Amino acid sequence: MTIPLNDLPSKVSPVELLKAGSPTLAGTIAQTLADPVSDRFSDNDSQFLKFHGIYQQDDRDLRKTGKTYIMMVRLRLPGGVLTPAQYLACDALAARHANNTLRVTSRQSLQFHGVLKSNLGPLIRGIHETLLSTLAACGDVNRNVIAPPSSPADDFGRQVHAHARQIALALAPRTPAYHSIWIDGVALNLEDPKTREFEDPLYGRTYLPRKFKIGFAIPPVNDCDILSNCCGFIAIAGDNGQLRGYNLVAGGGMGRSHGNEATFPRLADVMGFLPSDRVEEVARAVLTIHRDFGGRADRKHARLKYVLADRGVAWFREELDRRLGFKLDEARPFQFDRQGDLVGWRRQADGRLALGIFVETGRIKDQQEVRMKTALREVVRKFEPEVRLTPANNLLLAQVDPEYQEEITRLLAAHGVRIHSQGSLLRRASMACVSLPTCGLGLAESERCLPDLITRIEALLAETGLEDQEITIRMTGCPNGCARPYLAEIGFVGKAPGRYQIWLGGNASSTRLNRLWRDNVIETNLIAELRPLVTRYARERAAGESFGDWVARVLWAESPATA
Ligand code: SF4
Repeated sequence: MTIPLNDLPSKVSPVELLKAGSPTLAGTIAQTLADPVSDRFSDNDSQFLKFHGIYQQDDRDLRKTGKTYIMMVRLRLPGGVLTPAQYLACDALAARHANNTLRVTSRQSLQFHGVLKSNLGPLIRGIHETLLSTLAACGDVNRNVIAPPSSPADDFGRQVHAHARQIALALAPRTPAYHSIWIDGVALNLEDPKTREFEDPLYGRTYLPRKFKIGFAIPPVNDCDILSNCCGFIAIAGDNGQLRGYNLVAGGGMGRSHGNEATFPRLADVMGFLPSDRVEEVARAVLTIHRDFGGRADRKHARLKYVLADRGVAWFREELDRRLGFKLDEARPFQFDRQGDLVGWRRQADGRLALGIFVETGRIKDQQEVRMKTALREVVRKFEPEVRLTPANNLLLAQVDPEYQEEITRLLAAHGVRIHSQGSLLRRASMACVSLPTCGLGLAESERCLPDLITRIEALLAETGLEDQEITIRMTGCPNGCARPYLAEIGFVGKAPGRYQIWLGGNASSTRLNRLWRDNVIETNLIAELRPLVTRYARERAAGESFGDWVARVLWAESPATA
């Protein structure tokens, strides 16, 4: 069932009308691109641009002197895997057409920031020439499909990644506008009846009510925060260790809005087991439930998680069975025991090596002491490892011949990237979204604020004898939750300039939501709020008990109001 324009519900958000009026998503993007005077796209076109992987933004640091328009461009990169040539191309494109940084995203992709309108065309053509795309990296479609970055280098891991790529391809929108505008450099001919009548075979004329996120996980490692996805596939091994199928989970999501109780983070529910050869049809069926039942009146309440919350899991299972024409089996047992990335060298199943590199706040850049961008470029150019991006904003250099281990270590160190000392456990477990100065939705600092805050929390832990403690800390500049703060042991969520909410109580395996502890705390008071808690934790914790587990056991029992 797709929704024709004249069958749209009577009260729909303006974005629904826009999509319905231009289902090729072309808008007037090509015309504006060709206009040498204009430095920006219209508000309507900025909605279409998202489907092309582009956000129109302005540098918020410069707003006092007027708006300076810049774009953010995001890759669609299923499983976060780049060949050496693709990584080097992105490195060069960032230098030539963006702000000479690459941002690893929380969905295993790369973002280019600070792109001027005049550089958009060359940048996206360059991305296309390296056999990558930005189509559907943003917008009301299936977003980047994520898959375990540290998956074993064996058949099992390869099959899971192959399924991620298969689904990404199957659920990609089919609009001819992307190729026409960015690759051929011409506007779509809207006089052509085929173009005028275009309707995407999967998404129809109005696409999805909002974004849709799919992930894969291989227990016991939950490095994709699988329960935060709209649709997740948890790989299940048979007795012979081969991939047998997946448990489907559905209805997860992080985003919420301040002061709007109808919006909330939600963990996905376990729906059942499917054989691995049915993964594409199941993903498609879950997506079409979102397409057909997701809210189209209020974009803040338009995610699949609200369909699940409003209609119930039993209804969802029945609807899914009906669409599939078969029932899922009982879910198989599975267990997650950790979430975070491993840093440093480790041996792959095939005898080669992988190197985990912590990228603070996900920003690959050159600074005075640590020239991460140059270091990676030189290593990738010389040794040609596969580059894997992680959902925790870090990266892995994989498929490395062991004979290069020492030379790579030395080369990185020459540029200040010391892989034997990549920061404290606390710092390595931290994540921040981009927020200011580029994200238009940021209410408070995030990427630019977290490193210093972590330094202060490190000092606090040292004061209380907890210097070797790992605590997952995530910060976002607004409640949309791009860095998934509601799964962290400590989450900071921007409320206003210099003010944050504190959320406490996630767990090490990223399978428990935290709860609001304090609202609207001034940034300079964050440590004062945490000090009594950390002091008590140091005193009262059980053997081996994590901070988040202590919060859930002790604090939540004392303060059920936060429940
Ligand atoms: Fe922007 Fe909010 Fe996402 Fe941060 S969480 S990047 S502020 S939308």
